[in-house]
Amino acid sequence: MRLILFDIDNTLLYTGGAGGLGMNLAFQEMFGISDGFASVEFSGRTDLFILSEALRQHGIRGGLEAHLQGFLRSYHYHLEQTLEERNGHLEPGFPHLLEALQKRDGVRLGLATGNFSQAAWMKLEHYGIRQYFRDGAFGDESLDRAEMVREGIRRFAGDVAPTDVLIVGDTPHDVSSALANRLVAVGVATGTYTTDQLRDSGANLVFQDFSDWHDAAAKLAGEA
Ligand SMILES: [Mg+2]
Repeated sequence: MRLILFDIDNTLLYTGGAGGLGMNLAFQEMFGISDGFASVEFSGRTDLFILSEALRQHGIRGGLEAHLQGFLRSYHYHLEQTLEERNGHLEPGFPHLLEALQKRDGVRLGLATGNFSQAAWMKLEHYGIRQYFRDGAFGDESLDRAEMVREGIRRFAGDVAPTDVLIVGDTPHDVSSALANRLVAVGVATGTYTTDQLRDSGANLVFQDFSDWHDAAAKLAGEA
């Protein structure tokens, strides 16, 4: 059994900034602060980390414990709208790559995303690829991406050999979350990082994109 876990933003799809905008609108609604995440690095971070950083930077009392549930309600409400408003797209080769992998015996697909879980499912639903995934590791699980991946796999995959787990993502954070758990790191340069940068960060396998999905499916499934 080979488990292939995909990051969402800039790996499977690009929302046109709908996620960041939705989080900003929710933060503004709750705390009256516009552009509350301006000084927080989003790329490759878990949403839990991003929110806790913004709360800390703005000196908001109570932290995650006091504000997480309210924030999630507001964020999900706004995300519904921003996904409609912003023009995004699936990244090259999708959904064909997922379709091809799903057909293979011995391959199981999942998510390894920093997104809050409900927001993750909303994005996949909006772009029509929800049906390929049943479970995953999500950004509500930890401030730290490597720990998030570890917990997620333990929960839904149990005793799978680390060498049979591939983490596919567009940032060095995705790569390091794989390597920290001795998993196989696959980089794809559809975000802001180049293939060289992803390779330098330690990725075991690197793609420019998945437009040649036929070849990519064989490589990811371990056949080529
Ligand atoms: Mg990403």
